[in-house]
Amino acid sequence: MAINIEIDQFRFADFSGAGKHSIFLEISPAGSGEQIGIPLLVANGLKPGKTLVAFAAVHGDELEGVQAIQDVFRQLETDAMNGRFIAVPVANLPAFRAVQRTSPIDSLNLARTFPGRKDGSVTERLAYYLGELIIPQADLFIDLHSASASLMPTMAGYDASGTEASKVSKDAAFRTGMPVMWGHSDVGPGRTLYAAIERGIPWLYVESPSGRRISNVELPYYVDALLNLLGHLKVIDRDAPVRVPKLHLFGSGDIDRTQSVNVGGFFVQRVNLLDRVEKGRLVGEVRDLFGEVLEEVRTLSSGIVAVLRSDPLVNPGDPVCLVAEFLSD
Ligand SMILES: [Zn+2]
Repeated sequence: MAINIEIDQFRFADFSGAGKHSIFLEISPAGSGEQIGIPLLVANGLKPGKTLVAFAAVHGDELEGVQAIQDVFRQLETDAMNGRFIAVPVANLPAFRAVQRTSPIDSLNLARTFPGRKDGSVTERLAYYLGELIIPQADLFIDLHSASASLMPTMAGYDASGTEASKVSKDAAFRTGMPVMWGHSDVGPGRTLYAAIERGIPWLYVESPSGRRISNVELPYYVDALLNLLGHLKVIDRDAPVRVPKLHLFGSGDIDRTQSVNVGGFFVQRVNLLDRVEKGRLVGEVRDLFGEVLEEVRTLSSGIVAVLRSDPLVNPGDPVCLVAEFLSD
């Protein structure tokens, strides 16, 4: 049974005893509307050690991570643990309740809102507390996403910026067991990752093609990734060797730089996810109601199709494709 605590009253030190704690951090007082806050799971080992912090449902329609966090938390045996697993199964509760990417309350995308504001709108307040209160606990931070309007491979994204933290990030990524690795020289502003970067905390994120529903093909990758990272950090007794990925990509992780369409309509794909493409290759076309082609989208560089629009209905400005560099190692 979870306990409710007003978020400004919460201290991790008050929940440092060995065992499992389920805490709902209230952000607004309960009124006529549904309670807003942050569901927090804390599993403390009998002995001290490192801390893995995991978030899911930063986007409210990306659901594998929610179940994976719950499943891992339930199976952990804290008597045999050294260190902590701290997890937020649903980071953006209003968006999760609406099963949508952004908040129905203030229309903000939580993954573009960090560092947030303590006295801001609901999403800004969520970002503030997630970044100020929870991420700083981490020796390693992982954000569990999955694609919804776009297809993305089952992958781990890691920090390839060259900092000390980035070496830890890359090493951890290759132990997750995810089949595709994607190293990023930079990430866009406003991400959860940014709160980790600011504090020198190594970060990872994962993606998969499903989103909006939980795929029994993808879910085990999420569960294994969390358990492997807990093993890698020596929080649990589990081997997590470096594994050779099926594909190793490189490039900007800023999906806001994804190629977009200029017109709305019906988007028809002309490539597949993870296709190897040359610059100028036709990615897809936007058609009108009569099948007439309004716009062709062509690749701006050679590489691997790493993000591809899956929802056929597009509005002007919607992202449709991102081509990543391919690394052979
Ligand atoms: Zn996401």
